[in-house]
Parts: sequence; C-alpha cells; structure tokens
Amino acid sequence: MVIIKNSEQLALMRKAGKITAEALLVAREAVRPGVSTLEVDTKVRQFIERCGATPSFLGYGGFPGSACISINEQVIHGIPSAKVIIKEGDIVKVDVGARYRGYNGDSARTFPVGRVSDEALRLISVTEQSFYEAMKVARAGNRIGDIGNAVESFVISNGFSVVKAFVGHGLGKDLHEEPEVPNYGKPGRGPRLYAGMTLAIEPMVNVGDFNVNILKDGWTVVTADGKLSAHYENSIAITESDPIMLTDAEN
Ligand code: MG
Ligand code: MG
Repeated sequence: MVIIKNSEQLALMRKAGKITAEALLVAREAVRPGVSTLEVDTKVRQFIERCGATPSFLGYGGFPGSACISINEQVIHGIPSAKVIIKEGDIVKVDVGARYRGYNGDSARTFPVGRVSDEALRLISVTEQSFYEAMKVARAGNRIGDIGNAVESFVISNGFSVVKAFVGHGLGKDLHEEPEVPNYGKPGRGPRLYAGMTLAIEPMVNVGDFNVNILKDGWTVVTADGKLSAHYENSIAITESDPIMLTDAEN
C-alpha cells in the first residue's frame, strides 16, 4: 500500500532529509586517500546522532554500518571496514539514511577521490543528471514508468546502462515502502503518482552492462564485468507541480 503523507508528516520528512543531506556533506569531507571506510562511517553515525536522529541503515536487515560505502565496481551496499582504505583515483559511493521522529531520509552520492579518469567523471555526471531527468516527470498524474523511462533513456543515450536488479522505493516511517521505483520503464505505465507520495529515486549506473553480483559477504553488490558504477539518490515528495527535495541540506 502506498502511504500518502500529510503536511505535518512531510515537515518531519524534510527534517529527516536535511539531516541525511548534511550527513553526506560530512561524508564528502571524510572521504580522503588513506582513510578507511569505517572511519567515514563513524563520522556519519556520530553526526546523525548529534542531530538527535538515528542512522536508518544501522541494523537494517542486519546491516552493520550507518552508511553503505561502495568503491569503484561496487554498486551499492558496501560494508564499512577498517580494512578498506580509500585511494587516490577511486570513486566512492556513500549512501546514508537518517530517521528523525519516526521518519526516514535516504540519499547517496558518488565522490571522486583526487584525480580520477575522464570516464569516471562522465559516469558520475550522467548519473546525477539522470536523477534530474526523473525530477522533470515526477509529478502527480504521471506514473512510475515515466520516472524509470526518464532515467534509463538518458543513461542509454550517454552509452551507459542502468542496474535493474535493485530499484528506488517509497519511504516514510519505513525505509522501504511501496511503490518500487525502477530506473527503467515504459512511459505511462506502472503505479500513478499522487501528491503526498514520498519516493527515493536512485539511479545506479554502470559503465558496462547492467548485470550485477552479490559478494560472499551477503551485502556488497558489484558489477558482473568489473567496470565502474555510480549512484545518485535523493528523497522527494510528489506534488501537483515540481517535486519537493526532501534530502536538501538547505531545508
Ligand atoms: Mg539509499
Ligand atoms: Mg534508497
């Protein structure tokens, strides 16, 4: 069931989203050559807790971290570790959620570390822009398939592929609510969008093909061909006109 939020609930989600967005700014500062992904995770957790919020991911389905930190060919769900040291030339995906007074935010960015390849920079930029292509059609009366089609057609026109095995989602009191929000689809198909729906739109974009595998740790999703992947995610609220950005540090 899709849960429509009222203005009071949306205000709480803006607050959860603001904390989430600020936690990503903390992560961006922390991502440096020589730093472990566990150190980044710890700074994110401490920041969220200082805001009077709870890391949404910590313990979710048994996940051991506050952030998912995934490097290079890792797509999503990388487990923070003292043994994983960030290097110059890496691209580092940090995915964070904060729960504030019962409501969740969810947002992800891909950070280049020092000098990275032109292909990596283009991947990061196409992934970000594909989210904004989705924003153009994310409004009441359109359908979930319009969002997926906007992401996928932009990504494919740039020569990359979208991951299909993992998708965006509704969110609210639960980190994952209905509907699913795939990064592919047909225009005019799928569940209709209504004002007050809150969605995490999260393109996962691969340089090579869309196939992915899960590592033996049971969490880390990697590209099957070992090529780079990028991730960009924000939580938004559907309205009759432009969507509201919930994961906005300026809220
Ligand atoms: Mg996320
Ligand atoms: Mg998400």
